Amino acid sequence: MKFELVKLSYASDALEPVISKTTVEFHHGKHLLTYVNNLNNLVTGSKFENAGLETIVRESEGGMFNNAGQVLNHNLYFTQFSPNGGGEPSGMVAKAINAAWGSFENFRKEFEAAGVGLFGSGWVWLAKDKDGKLSITKETNAGNPVTKGLTPLLGFDVWEHAYYLDFQNRRADHLSNLWKIVDWNVVESRY
Ligand code: MN
Repeated sequence: MKFELVKLSYASDALEPVISKTTVEFHHGKHLLTYVNNLNNLVTGSKFENAGLETIVRESEGGMFNNAGQVLNHNLYFTQFSPNGGGEPSGMVAKAINAAWGSFENFRKEFEAAGVGLFGSGWVWLAKDKDGKLSITKETNAGNPVTKGLTPLLGFDVWEHAYYLDFQNRRADHLSNLWKIVDWNVVESRY
């Protein structure tokens, strides 16, 4: 197997009550596992057989893109949380956020609004360009900012499978709670 299911650095119930054990088990153990299995089947015998994940996301389309994008997206997603997360960023990311939005609070409001305003399924990302400037990008379905030449730093999944068991239709409540588990050290390491 070329691509493997990303390992969680926390127990499946460690993100409660923000993300329940059941949601982690379905989202990571079933939804993401399906994307990984699909991608492994699709790359076998294709021109992407020896390609890295980001290359596949940048250069493929159709089912290959959808599954590779979702593997990349969820690898970033599940490794950015910690039961000891929350608070505010420091270091380079905090400086870049203040430069772009004036304050962490303003950034947070705009990020949540982008996620709430995304119609249907997709992702909201904090991404940086080659000069380190930050932006918020909305991506539908399996989209990732790497296709725009940007580096993803933080991604909130707004597919219903990410929150429906815990928050039903209340996407805004789910998004506003996620800040409690964001590991800003991980975000900083991606900058
Ligand atoms: Mn998802």
